[in-house]
Amino acid sequence: MDYIEKRERLVKNLVERKILKTKNVIHAMLVVPREEFLPENAKSSAYIDSPISIGCDQTISAPHMNAIMCEILNIEQDDKILEIGTGSGYHAALCAELISFKHKDFKGHVYTIERYKELAEKAKENLKKTGYDNRVTVIEGDGTLGYPEKAPYDKILVTAASPEKIPVPFKTQLKVGGILCIPAGTKNYIQRLYKIQKLEAEFKIKEITSVRFVPLIGQYGFSDID
Ligand code: SAM
Repeated sequence: MDYIEKRERLVKNLVERKILKTKNVIHAMLVVPREEFLPENAKSSAYIDSPISIGCDQTISAPHMNAIMCEILNIEQDDKILEIGTGSGYHAALCAELISFKHKDFKGHVYTIERYKELAEKAKENLKKTGYDNRVTVIEGDGTLGYPEKAPYDKILVTAASPEKIPVPFKTQLKVGGILCIPAGTKNYIQRLYKIQKLEAEFKIKEITSVRFVPLIGQYGFSDID
């Protein structure tokens, strides 16, 4: 079975499990080639619904987690998106596909931050070879500070586990009406995934499910020594 068939089978399974629901997210998961974001020796596992090591002790999330987060964010054409935790660049590519869904003159953009230089460089390569580099900018640095240069954002996606106290920059750099999707809780155990909507005078917080992510390390995140 080739990659396209395996991808279609995985997407069908995620639809049957009612994880994938909306047309544009289904489309994105069908067209972005996950195998191109994996190390050579892991490509054959690209369509198993599981996290996979990508180096620097980090992982690309399981496809069902990418699907859940994309569904939560309700990404629209022309959204300006900030992702914290580029990793392989795969989730940034999904976001890029979503902002340009059936839309050639897209105005949106994805900014994604990674703390490991090695992963940031590899993600840039992955995004270039898959053609998403015109919609995604990879930045190397501490993503817990957000990226004030391009704020405010329509959507902020955090793909590493934050402490229970959500980093302040994510809240200030989100547009009113915008959505923040973030796992938060303990450093090395189970966390909860939250959908946080910024309203005029408050934040509306919805707990979605239990998750397990690698920690968000940085000034407003966890320390890397304990
Ligand atoms: N979204 C990624 C993908 O599609 O491959 C997977 C992300 S992986 C689960 C979490 C990533 O967050 C790791 O690459 C890790 O190095 C990164 N990370 C952790 N703390 C960070 C921080 N403060 N700033 C930027 N990246 C961070």
